[in-house]
Amino acid sequence: MTALDHRLIDLLVCPLCKGPLQMQRTPGGQPRALSCAADRLAFPIRDGIPVMLESEAQPFEPTPAA
Ligand SMILES: [Zn+2]
Repeated sequence: MTALDHRLIDLLVCPLCKGPLQMQRTPGGQPRALSCAADRLAFPIRDGIPVMLESEAQPFEPTPAA
């Protein structure tokens, strides 16, 4: 299902700025959220389904470049 996984992510863009999203994973490697660096919002993934709703998005601080 890895190919499908990648295909799904390719189709998803930020609903606000239409920019690219980055997958956030748990330490166990499970998809956790899709984050938009431009808006600093992370959209949760619930039961493997991305929830692309601004009302569900959580503020997210991009990791500062060291
Ligand atoms: Zn965005």
